[in-house]
Parts: sequence; C-alpha cells; structure tokens
Amino acid sequence: MEAVLTSPGLPSLPAVAVQLLEESRKADVNVGRIAELIASDPAMSARLLRAANSSFFGFRGEVASVSRAVALLGAGGVVSLALSFSLSDDALQAGVTADAYRAYWRRCVVQATAAELAGDLPGTVGRDEEAAAVAAAGKGDRFLAGLLCDLGTLALLKAFPAESVAVWAASEDARVDPAARERSTWGFDHAAVGGALARRWGLPERLALAVARHHETPEALVAASAGGLMPASAGPLVRTAALASAVGDHFCGPDSGPALGRLRTAADTLFGLKGKALTTYLEDVRERAAAAAGLLEVDLGKLGRPADLLAIANEHLSELATRRSVEADALADRHRRLEAEHRDLQQQSLRDSLTGLYNRPYLVDALRREVAVCSRTGSTVGVIFADVDRFKAVNDTYGHAVGDRVLRAVAGAFAQVLRRTDVPARFGGEEFVVLIPRPTEAGARAVAERLREAVAWTCRTVGGITVNTTASFGVALAVPTDLPDAADKLLAEADAAMYEAKKTGRNKVIVRSLLSPEERTLHGAVAARRFSRWLSASGAIPVRDVGEALTDLTPPDVALGALAREAGVLDEVQTDMIADVQQVGERFGEAALRLGLLTLEQLAELLARQQEDPRALGAALVARGHAEEAEVEALLHAHAAAGPNLIPVEQPAAVA
Ligand code: GH3
Ligand code: MG
Ligand code: MG
Repeated sequence: MEAVLTSPGLPSLPAVAVQLLEESRKADVNVGRIAELIASDPAMSARLLRAANSSFFGFRGEVASVSRAVALLGAGGVVSLALSFSLSDDALQAGVTADAYRAYWRRCVVQATAAELAGDLPGTVGRDEEAAAVAAAGKGDRFLAGLLCDLGTLALLKAFPAESVAVWAASEDARVDPAARERSTWGFDHAAVGGALARRWGLPERLALAVARHHETPEALVAASAGGLMPASAGPLVRTAALASAVGDHFCGPDSGPALGRLRTAADTLFGLKGKALTTYLEDVRERAAAAAGLLEVDLGKLGRPADLLAIANEHLSELATRRSVEADALADRHRRLEAEHRDLQQQSLRDSLTGLYNRPYLVDALRREVAVCSRTGSTVGVIFADVDRFKAVNDTYGHAVGDRVLRAVAGAFAQVLRRTDVPARFGGEEFVVLIPRPTEAGARAVAERLREAVAWTCRTVGGITVNTTASFGVALAVPTDLPDAADKLLAEADAAMYEAKKTGRNKVIVRSLLSPEERTLHGAVAARRFSRWLSASGAIPVRDVGEALTDLTPPDVALGALAREAGVLDEVQTDMIADVQQVGERFGEAALRLGLLTLEQLAELLARQQEDPRALGAALVARGHAEEAEVEALLHAHAAAGPNLIPVEQPAAVA
C-alpha cells in the first residue's frame, strides 16, 4: 500500500485544486477568492465555463464569466468540479490502460449521478436524523463522494498499470467482485487505497470515509452507524457512496442480474427504497448521467435503460430455469451415445480436442433438439456463427503452432463470455458456432457483441507475439418450424450473416432476424405475460428468489390445443378443425390466428403459460419459503387481472 501511495506516477492534485480545497474549508468561505484562484488557471476556467453551460445544470442564458459560474454553482459545487477535472489523466488514455481507464470514468459518472440524486429520495428524509442529513449534505458533497469512491482504482492504474488491467479483466471475466480480486492480489483493495489517498490530500474526513467504506455490505454500514462506530457526520455520505457503488455495478458491471439483487438490498437497507420508487430513481440516474457525462467530458457509451437491464436480468433467470432441462437432456444424450456403440467414433465424443469446446456433431444434435422443443412452444432459437479474420495470414507468418494457440485463445474468450446454457462449438477449421437458447433479438446481439469484444481483447497477443486477431460474427434468430431442415436453415442464415460481416469490414456483428413483425409483436407479448417477469418487474418478490424458484421448474410440455381447451378458450371441435387445416410447417397458434379462432392476446397468454406455468412457479416459491401461500394466491390473481384475463383464476376466499 505504501508503494502505491508513494508511487511517483500517482495522481496529484494541481496547486490550484489544493488551494481551492483549503479555501473551501474555511469557516468563512471567500467566493471572490475562489473565482480568482480558478481564473488563474486558464484550462480549468475553460472547463468550468463549459460545464456551467452544459445541459447538466440547465441554467437559462449563457454563463460567460468564472465569477458568474461561481455565483451560480456555489463554492462547494465549483470546488467539486475543479477537483474532478484534476483527476482526469491523459497518460492513462492510451496503451494497456485505455479500456480500464474509460470504464473507470464511465462508472465514476454513473456513481456521481446516483449519489447526487440520492438526496432527493423520498425514503431519505424523516427516516432518522442521519438520513435527513443525507438530504441536507450539499449536492456537491454527494456528487463528489460518488465520483471519488473509486479513486483507489485510478491510483492502482497509475502505480501498477499492467497488473491492474489484468486484475480488472480477470474479475470481469470471472464475474467476481474486483475488490476481492484486488485483496487476493495485493492484500488491500481500491477502497482502502482511495481512502488513504483522500486523507493524504486533506479531503474532509466524511469524504475519506465514504471512499474507504463504500464496498462494505449495507448491513455492516447500518450496524456501524447504530453502534456508534461511524462518526454521525459521515454516516449519510458513506451510505450514499455505498448505494452509488451498487448502482454503478448494475449499470456498468458485467452481470446485471446478480448486481440488481445486490442493488435492491442496498437501496432497501440503506434508504428504504424499493419497487417502483427504485425504478424511477434508476431512470433518473440514467437520464442525468448522460448530462453529467457531458459535464465531465466522458464518453458514456450506451447506458442500458433500467427496463432493458431488467429484461436482461430476467433472461439470466429464465436461463437458470432451462438449465436443468438442458442438463438433463445432455445427460440422456450422453447415455444414448454410450449405448450406441455402432455409431462412429467422432459422434461419441462431445468435445473438440484442440479447443475443448463442443464439436460439430454435438452442436448439430443440440440445435436439432432445441429446434424441436421451440417449434412446439413457439420460443426463439439463436445461432451465432463466427469466423476468425485473416487467419491464414497468422499461420503463414508465425506458423501453424501459433495459429493453434490463437484458436485456443478464441475458445477461451468464448468460455469467458458465455452462460452455462449456451452451447459453444468449434464448427471446423477456424469457424465457431454458438447455440443460444430462447434469446430476444437484443439479447442475441448483445452476446455476439460481447464475444467479438472478448476475442479482440484476448487475441491481442498469444505467447508474447502480437497478432491482434479478431473475428466476424453472424447471428440468426427464428421461431423454428418443425420442418426437417429448420436447423440447417438457421445455420445457413447465420453463416450468410457472417459473410456479410466479412464483406463489410470484419471484426463486426451482423444480425438477421427471421422473425416476422407479427412474431416480434407476439414475442414481446409472450415475454411480458410470463409470470416470472411480471413478478420481477413488480418488485413483489426479489429477483434472486424468483430465479431460484425458476430452477425448480421443468418447462411444461403441454400441447397448445390441450392448453386452450383446458382454459376454455377453444372447444374440441375448434382444436380438431385447426389441426385439420394446419399447413406444412405451420404452428397450431398460427393456424388459429389465421382462422380467427384466437386473438393475438389470447395466443400470447397461452404461449406464456406453455413456456412457464404460473401455478407451478407459485408453488415453487412457496416450497422454497420465498412467499406465503396466500401471498402467491394474491399475486397470481393480480397477474391474471393485469393481462387479457382469458384464463379465470379462483378468487381468494376473502375477496370473493
Ligand atoms: P477471412 O478473414 O476471410 O476469414 O480470412 P481467413 O484467412 O481467415 O480465411 P481462410 O478461410 O482462407 O483461411 C482459413 C485458414 O485456417 C486456412 C487453414 O490453413 C487454417 N486452419 C484451418 N484449421 C486450422 C487448425 O486447426 N489450425 C491452424 N493453425 N490453422 C487452421
Ligand atoms: Mg474460414
Ligand atoms: Mg477466417
């Protein structure tokens, strides 16, 4: 730690910033002196004026002078800004640290915004004296706490650039808390470094504490406050930084699902914030972060909308649900293989020996199985086709052995990005195919994009040789029919998309959705009607609990016709009629729509039930002790009432 703190490359505060801090700490702040100090630094004056005129503050009319900016923003605000400008560091913007540095700033902006807006939270005021002080503490103070809480990351990047980048990438890949990775590497984490640095700079103690303790669990922070282990003046700011850090994880971290669970706990424990109020807060953070990015001249990239992040989190959850059946399938499959000794040798082994990924026969088999299931349930199948760019040149320049190492590195990149339910395979030579079960269009694209980034990052060098290898990706997405060539068609479509990616520049992703506009509408409706998504979105049951319960379910395998009869939407004559007129490759639901026997809403409701039985999910929640029976009953009722309500649910006794 001492080595970090005394490292010559450490961010140091420019003289002006130090003087500003001193000035702002005086009991009797001299605003004129602050304006004077800033005006003495032309670069800082220019940035301050740009900031004051940015949409973040939304002042009417142009702010043309430093003294006017100081008058409008107040001494605290100006000093916060000056301090944050001082932390940007051009040297880190290039070379190995470039990505980590950008990610660091992106997170800082989100955290600063989240901390600033924490003052407006309805749960803040009046909960207790301390919480009220969060609102009372200056906006600038909170903004700064959020901005600075990862200060240690910056110091570590400066002191140990290569190691920091490695720690950062490793924790991102393994989806573990970077702080834990830091502690196991260095014996301390960025929170400790940041806290020490903040003290060394002479920042106020409450800020230094917010920096040092932002990674502690919400429970620990509440206990520390209650037990008098935290100065009362620091408590609010520390809680704010902890919440901001959880928001940062959710928006900028690699795993939005579990991060959302942690954010929910932090928001509820620290601020009594949950449900709709939490969603609103996150929407506000997203909007305001965009403005703050302009203010600090940070490229924010695309920040997911909370609703989208929630959708992704939910997708993680439904993957958990399919995992069990996929694993059971894989097991049964292995069994069959072992018994079928007459099958050729290649078919028997599942893995490609060079990369350890699945081999082509296994992938084709798995795809056929998935297509068969999804043609019954009307869910989507996604295929990603990848081909290494200019791979021949690698072989020709460095030899076959290096080429093989590149292929292994590509496989390693895939293994880092993909989830357990995805099926990654080496399809041949330098071609790879990944089967993605039941994705949305945005989800499939996001996976391919992450694969592309991971390959480009992992394959910069192999065995000390700079190869800078990339790959091109084609994605195809469809609700398959049960025609025999459906799987091959999907593969061919992904292959064609990959070729388009090659032709139009390489190292990119092209997506071909074979979903018709009607199917897309239908799919949106089905997803929205799924009980698990409705539960998660309503905030009634924590996402983590819903996810756990989903893993207990086996997807119901009821024919749609039977389901429709059971629900009383169609009678036997009608379902027979539909079966009679079903054309080759046409699904039951499509025929029912064509004949006008089902509305789109009714079909969506039936498909949602076919993919995930609400009653079974409710029972699993009760069995796991995540909810009381009566509570589940009420939720099922509310869910049914919120939709087209085609399937009657029994009224709870008290209501009836
Ligand atoms: P493009 O960007 O258009 O895909 O260019 P490319 O050079 O990657 O395309 P091409 O398909 O012409 O080259 C593929 C090369 O991959 C040719 C072949 O020698 C090499 N290759 C195939 N299998 C292996 C393998 O197992 N190991 C190694 N080292 N090379 C392989
Ligand atoms: Mg090729
Ligand atoms: Mg190639």
